[in-house]
Amino acid sequence: MQTCIFCKIVKGEIDSAKICEDEDILAFLDVNPIAIGHCLVVPKKHFENIFDIEIDILQKIAVGAKHIAEKVKKSLAADGINLLQANGPEAGQVISHFHLHIIPRFKNDGLNFHPAQRQKLTIEELKKIALRFRSGQAE
Ligand code: ZN
Repeated sequence: MQTCIFCKIVKGEIDSAKICEDEDILAFLDVNPIAIGHCLVVPKKHFENIFDIEIDILQKIAVGAKHIAEKVKKSLAADGINLLQANGPEAGQVISHFHLHIIPRFKNDGLNFHPAQRQKLTIEELKKIALRFRSGQAE
């Protein structure tokens, strides 16, 4: 992807504040952070989202996220950490290159990732949805 901003960061064509990297993944600070210390973990190879990313790369991102979350929590004395990952514009994905957000949280920081309105379903309705997922059927 010639125009992908994260591919350019991976190649060093755009400068970034790197945290760590190996041959497959890179972690760097988000340039428009939700909170100070907000960082991103990306695969070096271009994958768009959860649907096309290779399993072994996703595993490396998950393990990397644990190590980075520990560093972020300790370095900033954060009270908590959110991991956030969006797939598709409707889900809030802005850059079409898989990325996992690591967001430090502090008591009374005013951030809220929990919608005030939640659905209320019966256990029967929940079981119907679970059955659909297990069977892989659309309906
Ligand atoms: Zn890319």
